[in-house]
Amino acid sequence: METAILIDILVQLAALEEERELFSVGGRAAEHPAALPEIDREIQRLTALVPDPTRRRLLRFRERGKRAVLFAREDACEGCGAVLPPADALGVRRGSRVVRCLQCGSFLVHRPWR
Ligand SMILES: [Zn+2]
Repeated sequence: METAILIDILVQLAALEEERELFSVGGRAAEHPAALPEIDREIQRLTALVPDPTRRRLLRFRERGKRAVLFAREDACEGCGAVLPPADALGVRRGSRVVRCLQCGSFLVHRPWR
């Protein structure tokens, strides 16, 4: 799979996992009972497109109830706060390669402009 396509899928997964987490708090899931299963289906659909070993790593994170793909925030991991080495930070910003946090192992992507 081309890196650009894989990164694009990871960006979508990061957005879905974030949405899922937001839905899981504050009673929103109760207000919109169809939303969570819908998000989960889309996460599963996209994950199935990802080649191994990346897919296996994604699944391992979710088995532990954790988000597998996070948005980098100011060149740091959104999950554990570890600062990315310059080469990784550049890779994330450019979307030129798949980057994982050296500390927690999460996949990191750049938040797209909205
Ligand atoms: Zn991390």
